[in-house]
Amino acid sequence: MLSRTEPVKILVVDDEEIMLKLACDALRTQGHQVIGSSGALEALDKLKGEKFDFILTDIKMPEMDGMELIQSAHRIDPSMGAIFMTGYASLDTAKRAIQEGAYDYILKPFDLQEIRSAVARAIQKRNQNIKDGREKGLSQLFDLNRILYTAGDCRSLLKLSLEFALVQGRLRGGMILYWPASTGELLILHTENPGQNLFTEVSIEIDEGLVAESSSVKDILHIERPDQYPLFSRLRDLVSDSSLADALPKADDEAILIPLRKAESTCGTIVLKKTSRGQKLSEEDLKLLAILGIQTAISLENLTLLIETERSYQELQNLQEQIIGLEKMATQGRISAEIGHELNNYLTVIMGNFQILDMKIKKGEMQSLKKQLEPISSNLEKIKSFTEGLLDFSTMKAKKAECDINELISKTLAFVKPQNVFKNIIFLTQLKPNVPRVSVDSGQIQQVLYNLLNNAADAMGKRKGEGGNITVGTDCPPEGQPLEIWVSDTGRGMSEEELGKVFTAGFTTKESGHGIGLSICRKIIESHQGTIQVESRLNEGTTFRIRLPL
Ligand code: ADP
Repeated sequence: MLSRTEPVKILVVDDEEIMLKLACDALRTQGHQVIGSSGALEALDKLKGEKFDFILTDIKMPEMDGMELIQSAHRIDPSMGAIFMTGYASLDTAKRAIQEGAYDYILKPFDLQEIRSAVARAIQKRNQNIKDGREKGLSQLFDLNRILYTAGDCRSLLKLSLEFALVQGRLRGGMILYWPASTGELLILHTENPGQNLFTEVSIEIDEGLVAESSSVKDILHIERPDQYPLFSRLRDLVSDSSLADALPKADDEAILIPLRKAESTCGTIVLKKTSRGQKLSEEDLKLLAILGIQTAISLENLTLLIETERSYQELQNLQEQIIGLEKMATQGRISAEIGHELNNYLTVIMGNFQILDMKIKKGEMQSLKKQLEPISSNLEKIKSFTEGLLDFSTMKAKKAECDINELISKTLAFVKPQNVFKNIIFLTQLKPNVPRVSVDSGQIQQVLYNLLNNAADAMGKRKGEGGNITVGTDCPPEGQPLEIWVSDTGRGMSEEELGKVFTAGFTTKESGHGIGLSICRKIIESHQGTIQVESRLNEGTTFRIRLPL
């Protein structure tokens, strides 16, 4: 920052040689670095070659008047301070000088102290301006960060960023190009109405040439003939048949390119359109726009990571649900083992007593048969009440909630597929899209499906590794009709006789079967006011159909 003690660099311009020398000497003795110029054109040349903090100029000069000189000087460096000197004071000159941003105004003839004080005041004023500018810049940066943090998705972030750039540059039109590495798409958002959320949006396949052109812009760039700039020719070809074709900067426009760049990688570009007559952007504006580009790139990366994390978290949750389902089913397995153990106890007593009965009958000891018949009948009674208890148990805890049956089926299949018993089986699905949601106990329906899938695998000789197809489907019912779920297999099928008994508790054709799986399934479906039916052809396959009321 400039301070009183810090020397400043001043260009003094006056066509009167004595005045020029006087002014230069007066300021040099103050420790400033002063360069004199006896004409406006020479002064402009000097300004193009080196940077000055102030220009102190006479107003009335032959080649170009001081006002014009300041205008041209400000086009070269808008931040340069200006002080006028004139012998013809009038209200009009004073007004014009202030409009041109003059810090001070000295009347000729002046004494040396007067010119020193004018420069000292100008330095002080300029210091204050820089301080104010910094504060303004800081508050703009604060606004920028706050705005960018409010965006919940990349599209809103891009829109906010573009609008901020337009407001900051006091421009009406512009566009933002974005090509996230993951999508292979180039998104272009364009607006001519900042602040009104009116955007044209075009999404096209990513173009390597355009990405290379854009990525070569490493810093904010001001382009004077956009029609001759390769990035715009490329863009024009890409959007020629879209509404964006007209929005690109024209030959007599100017464009400002702001790369969305973080570290060494660019993920997009902001293009601001500016008419050549429009106000020049100050150094502070350009700095803030460059920061906007970096901040936007960082925020886009953070947001993408956040969205990715949320997606992974959702996947984790789904997986967790599947694991819970798995545990439920594993519990189901444990229950089966316990059931087997319990039934075995009763059956051992029954079998033992039968053997004794057999012996007694062979020996003709008919009078003592009652001793064995009594435990046989009481144990059979125990088995009956045990299985009834089981069936009741399975229906007691129905916790119904709205559920997407297709999703439930997919989850169950995803869970069973990797299991060893389904190793040689090909799973097919025919799930009708948009089946209505039903209110069910999803855990219980999953148990039913698991049972049917297990039986189907058994029917295809899973243990011999024979394999076959299992198809699970849903049918979208006409209004008022129940929803249908079916599980079909290409297994051994059933005889008419087996078909008649299949839902009877205790009916099994398997060596280690208990014959209660399907009866539990029926209880569950009935507790949902639904039905379960079976169709089967021996050696061809079996289909179970569940109908659930909506
Ligand atoms: P378990 O599986 O313990 O035998 P279930 O009640 O689940 O008890 O099944 C009863 C019987 O129904 C099975 O033993 C089998 O004979 C027959 N069964 C069930 N599903 C099928 C199927 N998909 N294909 C052929 N037979 C089946």
